[in-house]
Amino acid sequence: MEECKPTDILAGADSEYYWESYSHPGIHDEMLKDRHRTLSYKRALVPSVVKDKIVLDVGCGTGILSMFAARNGAKHVYAVEMSSVRKQAAEIIKLNGYENVITLIQGKMEEVEIPEKVDIIVSEWMGYNLMFESMLASVIYARDKYLKDDGIILPDTASIYIAGISDEELLQEKERFWSNVYGFDFSCILSDVTVDPLVDYCDSRYLCTAPIKMITFDLRHMSVNQMDFTVPFEFVINRDVPLSGICLYFDCTFLKKSYLTTKPDTNTHWKQTCFYFDLPFDNAGSGDIIKGVYHCKPAASHPRHLDIELKCSCEAKQWTNDQVYHMN
Ligand code: SAH
Repeated sequence: MEECKPTDILAGADSEYYWESYSHPGIHDEMLKDRHRTLSYKRALVPSVVKDKIVLDVGCGTGILSMFAARNGAKHVYAVEMSSVRKQAAEIIKLNGYENVITLIQGKMEEVEIPEKVDIIVSEWMGYNLMFESMLASVIYARDKYLKDDGIILPDTASIYIAGISDEELLQEKERFWSNVYGFDFSCILSDVTVDPLVDYCDSRYLCTAPIKMITFDLRHMSVNQMDFTVPFEFVINRDVPLSGICLYFDCTFLKKSYLTTKPDTNTHWKQTCFYFDLPFDNAGSGDIIKGVYHCKPAASHPRHLDIELKCSCEAKQWTNDQVYHMN
């Protein structure tokens, strides 16, 4: 396959609204208040990692990660930000006395010039369902252009997990709604109503399988092409309940020094992503083996969105479900 450049992946995706969305303090407020998220970066940017190092912060937002690095002795930090939140970042960096250590660079990572190679790249690029927003492409671009051969990237791995879910309440609610729409019976279109992946907190009591680690991305070495990935999975149902769909979440490691997880019952702003089947696998039961394939790629229509195909089957009960989802 021909190597595609990150700029190709994001070509046409840089509509104003993406940068607009990060201009509002509200989104940064939500991220900063996500303590598990922010503290996992704080724990990673300790003196033993950053002291005397040159650091590049891809998408610095309010500058929080740059300041963790500066406070712990980084020699210099380049903080790149495209959205207008960079104005607030400049004030915050000055207010905290780091304007000599942190150089704030205004612009798109793909378009600015960093004056030297760096020892560390740090970025909080993860989106819903891990890959939503496709910001990882910008981090890979920065890595290939500016990271020294022996440099490190934080986080250094990202893994995706899935588990089966049984959520009868949701199904009953759906059935109730479509069987009486302002007094009319719409139940015949229940299965036609497209269900987009639902980003929400998925209580662990809804899980009816053990979670499976589906894929791990090695962020130091992976290519942009791998953002379009297809992975098989297999899990075993552990209760006699209908299978409503799957729950997906991710985790990240930081050189084994820190760990960030978005698993059920953790409270991060990423929540979990649930993919419901149009029709649940009603006679699923304990011991049933579900085999499946998950294919996720930046959407052709808009590369910051995702097209996902999920195939699931239970051979013993001759059940299959093949469904396409769009995240936008
Ligand atoms: N690092 C901050 C913000 C993370 S959100 C924190 O941890 O709180 C991601 C930020 O990256 C957003 O502010 C977004 O505007 C910026 N960003 C995304 N892609 C970028 C790119 N290619 N060039 C510059 N900034 C980018």
